[in-house]
Amino acid sequence: KAHMARGLPKQKPIAGVKEVIVVASGKGGVGKSTTAVNLALGLMANDQSKRVGLLDADVYGPSVPKLMNLKGNPELTDNNLMRPLMNFGMPCMSMGFLVEDTAPIVWRGLMVMSAIEKLLRQVDWGLLDYLVVDMPPGTGDVQLSITQNIPIAGAVIVSTPQDIALLDARRGAEMFRKVNVPVLGLVQNMSVFQCPQCNHQTHIFGSDGARELARTLEVELLGDIPLHLNIRETSDKGQPVVVSSPDSPEAEAYRRIASAV
Ligand code: ADP
Repeated sequence: KAHMARGLPKQKPIAGVKEVIVVASGKGGVGKSTTAVNLALGLMANDQSKRVGLLDADVYGPSVPKLMNLKGNPELTDNNLMRPLMNFGMPCMSMGFLVEDTAPIVWRGLMVMSAIEKLLRQVDWGLLDYLVVDMPPGTGDVQLSITQNIPIAGAVIVSTPQDIALLDARRGAEMFRKVNVPVLGLVQNMSVFQCPQCNHQTHIFGSDGARELARTLEVELLGDIPLHLNIRETSDKGQPVVVSSPDSPEAEAYRRIASAV
């Protein structure tokens, strides 16, 4: 309400970027970053004529450097913009490229906003069809300020089927609606674990929570990603499953989500 009362600041597109897709979650640890990375790579895999970039806006816990196996400081262009780092054919930018990875990041509110501003405005993306933004988890001021600063084509919300994660996901969806960002849909992550030994399936966090929430919120369920060792291991190695095991059912699941957004 307070933000509304002051009026929305004018949204300004990111130079060179056609569509911004944000990947959000109500809380941390549900697989938001893993989804953002594989969704971005999935968009490229589905249509190689599309140029896709990845912006890690999770300044508290940037995971794109590790997930994309990238480190180092971005070079500056003649216009003093930061040049994204590249891997797997995708330009990426992250706070993790700008700070030492051993240094604890203790942010004050204003510093967070200026870091976000830097990531949104001082990067030379060239021309992109899609910029996928890995949002910070939750629904606070930072998330709100991002949605108010740039035009966003749509939001993808990641949740586990667990009640508590779902409640937070619902808050996320409501936040986007309030600021008129279309919610493209929900991704249910870690819904089922299939034992590699006996193939028995276990619904560790419950089975259909996100499906039900999608129905309640009247948004699409974009996909269902199993809890899979291959996803965790390839993520830890900085070899996202969509590029390292393109023929796996896990990669297929991410590509399906990419074609649904
Ligand atoms: P968030 O961005 O929501 O904090 P991450 O994407 O960093 O979550 O994922 C948290 C951890 O869970 C990481 O170790 C990641 O590799 C793992 N993970 C995420 N999704 C899956 C999945 N479907 N199967 C197995 N591990 C997963």
